Amino acid sequence: MATKGTVNVQTENIFPLIKKFLYSDHEIFLRELISNAVDATSKLKVLSASGEAKGNLGDLKVEVILDKDAGTLIVKDRGIGMTEDEIQKYINQIAFSGAEEFVQKYEGKEGAEQIIGHFGLGFYSAFMVADKVQIRSLSFKEGSQSVMWESDGTPEFEISDIEKEDRGTEIVLYISDESKEFLEQGRIDGILNKYCKFLPVDIKFGTSTVQEDDPSGEKDEEGNVKKVSVEVDKIINNTAPAWIKSPSDLTDEEYKGFYRELYPATFDEPLFHIHLNVDYPFNLTGILYFPKLKESMEVQKNKIQLYSNQVFITDSVEEIVPEFLTLLHGVIDSPDIPLNVSRSYLQADGNVKKIASHITKKVADKLAGMFKNDREDFEAKWDDLKVFVEYGMLTDDKFYDKAEKFTLIKNSKGETATIADYIEKIKPIQTDKNDKLVVLYAHSQDAHHQFIQAAEDRGYDVAIMDSPLTPHYIQKLESKLENVSFARVDSDTIDNLIAKDEEIPSKLSEEEQEKLKPIFEEVVEKEKFTVSFESMSEKEAPIVITQPEFMRRMQEQQRMGGGGFMGQMPEMYDLKVNSNHPLVGSILKKQKDNKQKLAKQLTDLAMLSQGMLKGEELTKFIQRSVDLMK
Ligand code: ADP
Repeated sequence: MATKGTVNVQTENIFPLIKKFLYSDHEIFLRELISNAVDATSKLKVLSASGEAKGNLGDLKVEVILDKDAGTLIVKDRGIGMTEDEIQKYINQIAFSGAEEFVQKYEGKEGAEQIIGHFGLGFYSAFMVADKVQIRSLSFKEGSQSVMWESDGTPEFEISDIEKEDRGTEIVLYISDESKEFLEQGRIDGILNKYCKFLPVDIKFGTSTVQEDDPSGEKDEEGNVKKVSVEVDKIINNTAPAWIKSPSDLTDEEYKGFYRELYPATFDEPLFHIHLNVDYPFNLTGILYFPKLKESMEVQKNKIQLYSNQVFITDSVEEIVPEFLTLLHGVIDSPDIPLNVSRSYLQADGNVKKIASHITKKVADKLAGMFKNDREDFEAKWDDLKVFVEYGMLTDDKFYDKAEKFTLIKNSKGETATIADYIEKIKPIQTDKNDKLVVLYAHSQDAHHQFIQAAEDRGYDVAIMDSPLTPHYIQKLESKLENVSFARVDSDTIDNLIAKDEEIPSKLSEEEQEKLKPIFEEVVEKEKFTVSFESMSEKEAPIVITQPEFMRRMQEQQRMGGGGFMGQMPEMYDLKVNSNHPLVGSILKKQKDNKQKLAKQLTDLAMLSQGMLKGEELTKFIQRSVDLMK
């Protein structure tokens, strides 16, 4: 006899809600149904272990069956099943979460943590894609009557007795016209691969053909046993992914293998990994991998996959881990992260905050450990790590405090030192007359070669800082380190960058300088260059083009989109004429035309060394140089 009824009154308005708002992504209905099937199976295992479920459990795999002609998609399990009363309770009274009740009852018993709870309206998400849903179930309890529950997506439902031999539950979805895509094998394959790849129970979807030895043992001409084609179940998941194993059971190769399993389309190998395993004050497991960072950091972001008891939830974890950690790859699995709730809620959640700071700490500790245990190896990896570390130091003060101790500074000679050691080393030589310590840096060995050379000639050290974050990073260091300032080697002449007490007298008199100035001003763009005379050593270049540090920083920050300045900063340079260079003095002795020619030639050389001579100007320069040699 069939019973008719109405789903609990409170839920009257829930169906349209489910359809519209609850899940923006309709495809997750399948994740929810399969999770329920896996839960029911895990529950049965627990009950069997405690003796409450009797007998041999048999094959426990979950099956997904697609029947395009009938327009149905079925999720079938051999788990605990449900009696009519249980359906009334669990399915009709949405507020009751069977999973939660179960966990309370079986807390601490082996296997109970496998149960995927906290999915809220999981089952009802089926109505996002189906006009009609049937539950056909036989409970594991001895002497149970199998039942069918049926609803067309309104609060009305019908329950009737049916014939069903096999223990467990089948959820039959009659896929609606708007959701026909879910009758395509390829679509279902894709969803399973996304959400179910690491579920703890075998999931079968269709079959595949493999070659096996002929059971009759018949041999071919070469004496090998003949092969026959056999259909086997296609199991779409790996029930024991690396992160649930103990680190001591895994080799480095296995970690790398798991990385490839996670990102089949990635060829790069990760640099190293961190295996997370926390059970207090929250539950969390996972493996984080450090990828080799690429130039464009954005493409590498958001590759961390978030799971809840091996069910894939999302790969956007920005709300759960601090921003810089989104550069990492890998898996985080935690039943304690609330699911399907709004982002702002997530950020305010206490557990989520704890998880974030725990992961940050783990990552910092791992790096500190690597630095301590094998400094050579750490230094070798540094180029690949530094952007990540700098990013962390910029955005997370707790991370800064830890990272300060292992962050390296590399100099133009390829030597590395920690920040503290570096400061200690350059202090005696690079402190200027005002007692300020000046860290000289260049963004590449090549681009500023001439300036690096000039610094090295004075016995100074030049740090190579080539990460895209450098402008922000040095500002951060300046704010943290006392009485230290950073200056790019080409931001002024070396003797101005680190001003000492002794001064070199100028060979050119003021009068001569006055005469020379307009000659130089004529050969450069007036708005862009400020001409001045500088009493440098004779060994230095006749002309040096520099860009004041603060100017460049403004521009760089503007380019990175964080300047806070109105309008575009104009490009401005200083043209410093070395008043002690013999060639500069000799300009005055030339004929009018040649005066200009020489001044232009010397200026172009300075431009060339800064990589600023381009296009027509470069062509003209080459032509002029050739003429000069004639
Ligand atoms: P949740 O899984 O969050 O509890 P659902 O709406 O998905 O919410 O399911 C409600 C309840 O229905 C479950 O807790 C479970 O008791 C029961 N249930 C759903 N699917 C199955 C199934 N395949 N086998 C046994 N019980 C199930």
